[in-house]
Amino acid sequence: MFTSIAGRVAVVTGGSRGIGKGIASVFARSGARVLITGRDSDVARAAAEELNAQASAAGGPPGEVSFVQADVASREDCRRMAAIATELFGGIDVLCANAGIFPVGRLADLTEEDLDQVFGINLKGTVFSVQACLPALERSGRGRVIITSSITGPVTGFPGWSHYGASKAGQLGFMRTAAVELAPRGITVNAVLPGNIATEHLADSQDHASQMVASIPMRRLGSVDDIGYAALFLATEEAGYITGQTIVIDGGQVLPETLEAIAAADSG
Ligand code: NAP
Repeated sequence: MFTSIAGRVAVVTGGSRGIGKGIASVFARSGARVLITGRDSDVARAAAEELNAQASAAGGPPGEVSFVQADVASREDCRRMAAIATELFGGIDVLCANAGIFPVGRLADLTEEDLDQVFGINLKGTVFSVQACLPALERSGRGRVIITSSITGPVTGFPGWSHYGASKAGQLGFMRTAAVELAPRGITVNAVLPGNIATEHLADSQDHASQMVASIPMRRLGSVDDIGYAALFLATEEAGYITGQTIVIDGGQVLPETLEAIAAADSG
C-alpha cells in the first residue's frame, strides 16, 4: 500500500497541455495541491479549471490546481514560479520539470537559433526550474524532482530530432549529478522517459499515430495518465530511496529488434 500524496504540493512545468497536464491531473486526483505553468496564460487558466473539476469529481481527498504564466527558459520566471507556489501552498514537495518543445529540423539545416531555443527550454529550463525550487524542496524534507525526458535521445534516434535528442539525453546527465548533490538534502531526482504518447498534437495526424502504433508491441499509444502514474510513484514516500534513475514508459517500443519481431509476437 502506498502512502497518499494528498496535501503535498507539486509544481508541474508545462502542466497546461499534454503530458504535463496528465501528470497534474493524476496528482490533483490524488489530493495534491498543484501549480501548473505554461507560457500561454489563457491555456493554463482553462487547464486549471478543467483539472480542478476532475479533482472534485474524483471523490477522494480534495486536490487543488492553480496556474502561473511562466517561461522555463527564463531564470526570473522560474524564480517567480517557485515563489508563487510557496506563497499559495506554503512550500514545494515535488517538482515535475516537464515543459519541453520538439521542433523538427534536419541536422544539415539546424541554425544556432534552433539549438539555442531547444537547449534553452528543454535543458536550461530543466536546470532553472530545479534551481528555483531547490530551497523549498529542501525545506520539504522529502523533496522530489521528476524530469520528463524521452526515449528519443537517451535510447532511440529519429531523423529531424538530433537537437531534441541531445537535449533529452542532456537532461539525464544533469539528473545523475543533481541526484548525487541533492541526496544529502533528502531530495531525489529521477526521470520518466515517455515513448509515443497521445496528446493534443497527435489528434491532428491520425496517419502518423497509426504508423507509430505499428512499432509498439502493446499496439497502442501511451496515455498522459500512463506517464502521470509513473510520476506519482516516484513522488510517493515509498520511492524515497530511488534516485538518479529512469523509468521508460513506452509499451515496449524500444524492445523489438525489428518490426518482424512484433509481427512474430502477433502470430504466436
Ligand atoms: P505539449 O503537448 O506541446 O505540451 C507542452 C507543455 O509545455 C505545454 O503546457 C506548453 O505550454 C509548455 N511549454 C512549452 N515551452 C515552454 C516554456 N518555454 N516554458 C514553460 N512552459 C512551456 O508537449 P508534450 O508532448 O506534452 O511534451 C511534454 C514533455 O514530454 C516534453 O518535455 C517532451 O519532450 C516530453 N515527451 C513527449 C512525448 C510525446 O509523445 N508527447 C514523448 C517523449 C517525451 P505553452 O506552449 O503555453 O508554454
